[in-house]
Amino acid sequence: MIPARQLLQSQLSAPLPEHPELVLVTDLDGTLLGGASEERRSFYRWLAEQRERVLHVFCTGRDLEAIADVLREDEPLGLSAPHLVIGDVGCTVACGASLLPVPLAVDPIDARWRDLEAPLAALLQDQPGLKLQPCSSNRRLAYYVDLELFDPGVIEQLEAAGATCVLSDNRYFDVLPAGVNKGATLLALLEWLEADHAAVVTAGDTLNDLAMFETGLKGVMVGNAEPALVAHLPSLPSVYRAQAAGCAGIAEGLRHFGFDHLWD
Ligand SMILES: [Mg+2]
Repeated sequence: MIPARQLLQSQLSAPLPEHPELVLVTDLDGTLLGGASEERRSFYRWLAEQRERVLHVFCTGRDLEAIADVLREDEPLGLSAPHLVIGDVGCTVACGASLLPVPLAVDPIDARWRDLEAPLAALLQDQPGLKLQPCSSNRRLAYYVDLELFDPGVIEQLEAAGATCVLSDNRYFDVLPAGVNKGATLLALLEWLEADHAAVVTAGDTLNDLAMFETGLKGVMVGNAEPALVAHLPSLPSVYRAQAAGCAGIAEGLRHFGFDHLWD
């Protein structure tokens, strides 16, 4: 049997670092894209310099097209492509360099989604307060939600029909195959990477990052995290609440967890 790491590598268009000292898993909006320009510039420069020591994974609600937008728009700030991407709130895994989906990770989610999409879409049709996002059909249904109009009763029906629902930042409503989220997809990916969990740090700022923080991996909740996420802090013993926002918060968290040597 081909080892998992080799199989994963065979589905990527760029090599992964052989022996990374840190696997850094960052949400994008509000986290890796958060903070003042100067702090972002300096953090992106550090990431680029540490490419062989830090295996970087984006873990975001954005779809691949919107991730490509970020890489293009923030290139002037020095942001480079990560090694791997988890997109669509855990429903997509792609190579960071090519942004081509990784079949090993995506095919099983796709297979589950195929039978779910039609019945879930039927339940959601004409629901007040929901508007489909343009990135709506990558193994999930993604909506903008108006909480004043939204009827939370539909969540129970969706869950009974085989979905997991995630409300985030008071404006995003995602309907995913049951059990799929940023945390579950990350754990599967770490298994393929044969990564030592002690060398993994996650970072995020909104409720769709909660599943990542609930994995028990080290986590950094950045200073600008939404209050609904901060409320979960007491039940997340492996998560550090940073003072600083965005990029500076990630750096603060990495130092807290003893990764200072990566700045030497
Ligand atoms: Mg975010």
